[in-house]
Amino acid sequence: MNVVIIEDEARIAAFIERGLRAEGFGVQVAADGEAGFALAVLAETDLVILDLMLPGLSGEQVLQRIRARRPDLPVIVLTARDAVEDRVRVLNAGADDYVTKPFSFAELLARIHARLRARDQRSAAELSVDGLHLDLRTRNVRLAGREITLTSREFALLETFLRHPGQVLSQVQLMDRVWGYDYDPGSNVVEVYVGYLRRKLGREVIETVRGAGYRLRAPAPGP
Ligand code: CA
Repeated sequence: MNVVIIEDEARIAAFIERGLRAEGFGVQVAADGEAGFALAVLAETDLVILDLMLPGLSGEQVLQRIRARRPDLPVIVLTARDAVEDRVRVLNAGADDYVTKPFSFAELLARIHARLRARDQRSAAELSVDGLHLDLRTRNVRLAGREITLTSREFALLETFLRHPGQVLSQVQLMDRVWGYDYDPGSNVVEVYVGYLRRKLGREVIETVRGAGYRLRAPAPGP
């Protein structure tokens, strides 16, 4: 797990860094918002600890920029004591949680674990490839923000594609996973259902690989 600390007060940054390293986290520290933003958007970053009072870009501006690029990245904000309206503002601006200075390391660590747990639960219940999202609990499907209604078989087929993005799946593999063993091997049911999905999602979303099967292609982001 990799944490980025964006904090200009070296003493506080070092205090957090020391504690996190002892817990086995990878840690990177940035002393201003620009550098912090650059680290936060790296794919390997799992969580950000962001101080609100920074030189240059404010913590709030950094948060907005992070949200625009990585809407699901957990961000915990450090705020000064008694700045109630600050806390409301940052939660509205998309922070997941906040810790009020001065804080104990145990308190911060508990919040970090809670945020990472929440993220893992979310990602286990959701599959997404670029603009295409499947919620496995609600069976909700969204393509570039637009809601799509699928039958349960179409959903199962799309789910199978999303579990293997970019991989070619043969008719037999798709039959086994979506229809089970009880099917007629000569059936064209896969072709028919791929046709249904293309009609609802756009032709380009599922590619035919001649003689091999089908492959999910990341849909282009919508307007
Ligand atoms: Ca500061």
